[in-house]
Amino acid sequence: SIPLGFFGGIGGASKSGILVKGSNYLEALNAVKYVVFDKTGTLTKGVFDVTSIQPKNNLTSEELLEYAAFAEVHSNHPIALSIRKAYGQEIDESRIQNYNEISGHGIQVTVNGKEILAGNAKLMNKEHIAFEQKDVVGTLVHVAIDKQYGGYIVISDEVKEDSARAIQKLKELGIKKTVMLTGDAKSVGEAVGRKLGLDEIHAELLPDQKVDEIEKIDQQKTAKEKLIFVGDGINDTPVLARADVGIAMGGLGSDAAIEAADVVIMTDEPSKIATAINIAKRTRRIVW
Ligand code: ADP
Ligand code: MG
Repeated sequence: SIPLGFFGGIGGASKSGILVKGSNYLEALNAVKYVVFDKTGTLTKGVFDVTSIQPKNNLTSEELLEYAAFAEVHSNHPIALSIRKAYGQEIDESRIQNYNEISGHGIQVTVNGKEILAGNAKLMNKEHIAFEQKDVVGTLVHVAIDKQYGGYIVISDEVKEDSARAIQKLKELGIKKTVMLTGDAKSVGEAVGRKLGLDEIHAELLPDQKVDEIEKIDQQKTAKEKLIFVGDGINDTPVLARADVGIAMGGLGSDAAIEAADVVIMTDEPSKIATAINIAKRTRRIVW
């Protein structure tokens, strides 16, 4: 049977906007020593703005943005939302065929009979398209039309005000290691991770490679130590499932993530991770 105190702990957590799906997760939160974060939408706002448009090969800026917006028409990724917002016009979906969203890479689609690719360096390499590798601050979305490079769009995201506090509080709670895993470029991942004082930053990862990183950290733990993964859910469900405690940020999180997670934070504040650990510690004192 489950000691009554655990119900109090779960109830207390829910009053703080933290949904815990079982008393075993409260127990696990007591033993957390490793906290692994996704970047986009978790430590950053996940609301990108287009900051620069760099057309190549005789395209205009308007044409480049239009190709990108058509490619991104069906995607829920925060990158797609920012490109459609910058374009700002109606998109005739009947012109779009063969839509293919490639996780961790971007989009491949046919628009008016032309093949459009919109995504990162990995996507360009995969399709053997020579592209410009610029040292800019921000996430680059490269675009190719019928395998010819059309230039890139720079978008940037902002770190959440609450993120630095979240890392600080975890350190005060005696967490051994804080880690960020991201599919985004190294330059972007490291800029965010250093600003927040994370212990480790791993970038340019595909969803499967994020699972591999979790397994590596798992091997550093003792039998009693637990690992949390915190994500917003876009491409995160395999890692959420693999962690001892998978935590979804419910503010922006996808339904699939809320389903796969053990704990759901109803707001978009990462400092609620420390709150959840504190509630678990208090609950433990009541139960035992
Ligand atoms: P993160 O780990 O930061 O949450 P994702 O795994 O969702 O990132 O995506 C990793 C990278 O894949 C993005 O930074 C971007 O370069 C590329 N990407 C993913 N989805 C899209 C998309 N819809 N359009 C363009 N690029 C995308
Ligand atoms: Mg993500």
